[in-house]
Amino acid sequence: MRVHVWSIPMTTRFRGITVREGVLIETTTSGGGAGWGEFSPFIEYDDDVAAPWLASAHEAARGDWPAPLRSAVPVNVTVPAVGPEQAHRIVLASAGCRTAKVKVADPGETLAEAQARLEAVRDALGPDGRIRIDVNGLWSVDEALAGIPVLDRSAGGLEYVEQPCMAVEDLALVRRRVDVPIAADESIRRAVDPYRVRELEAADVAVLKVQPLGGVRACLRIAEDIGLPVVVSSALESSVGLAAGVALAAALPELHYACGLATGALLAEDVVMQPLSVVDGMLPVVRPSVDPSALARATASPERTAWWQDRVRRVSGLLD
Ligand SMILES: [Mg+2]
Repeated sequence: MRVHVWSIPMTTRFRGITVREGVLIETTTSGGGAGWGEFSPFIEYDDDVAAPWLASAHEAARGDWPAPLRSAVPVNVTVPAVGPEQAHRIVLASAGCRTAKVKVADPGETLAEAQARLEAVRDALGPDGRIRIDVNGLWSVDEALAGIPVLDRSAGGLEYVEQPCMAVEDLALVRRRVDVPIAADESIRRAVDPYRVRELEAADVAVLKVQPLGGVRACLRIAEDIGLPVVVSSALESSVGLAAGVALAAALPELHYACGLATGALLAEDVVMQPLSVVDGMLPVVRPSVDPSALARATASPERTAWWQDRVRRVSGLLD
């Protein structure tokens, strides 16, 4: 196994970070070719939290993914907390996405600002586009109960509300008192979490990310066990990591919702020949080939490389 550590600037500050780092692991497959997988847990994560991310990278490098059931998967455009004109422009520039995920509830933002953003997004998408909002857990239960019906009207109907409150118990409370479906995202970070969401009947939709949950096959098992429709989302990955999300979305028996996998452009560079990019609102189900010269250009500093090599060593020890 070879370890390639990369460091790539973000085009937009996201999740408080301006540079994304990770590792590509390279192994020789049984057929004799090179297999690649991405290991990119966020810097602050403990080794035990990072362990499923490494299991996912190994699965990808082995090429051990289930057969796809579709040749392309629909994806959403993400609209950050921007003014209505910019929100409108982002949707029109989204390469045909028919679903928009709109961020609301930023600190200091009024409900009226979110309403204006949603009206602009609806105008850009037209009546048959779908709109979901992402609250990132920032509302109290009372704020959620007050805000959801108002934003549902402004949007001309919401597909669902993602993580209106942070605590899974609060999600369950809100879900019982509003008509708009609820999706769990932050409530699902480790492999045990989806079962807690199911137990509390806290959500109508589960947002699953391949790396934190231990790989494509692990996510398929979770999806089957919890019996909820799934939205596959990225963890701000290079195209190698995104391809694992695409593989999951392609293998799900049913795919009712557009996926949150159109995040490749948030990284200023990529490590593959043909980055995964959106065409007619869809991502093709392909495994992009790693580009050695792009990977060389993205190589992290000696200090960061040593840090990641050490992390890979420690986390590997947990998997044995
Ligand atoms: Mg979210």
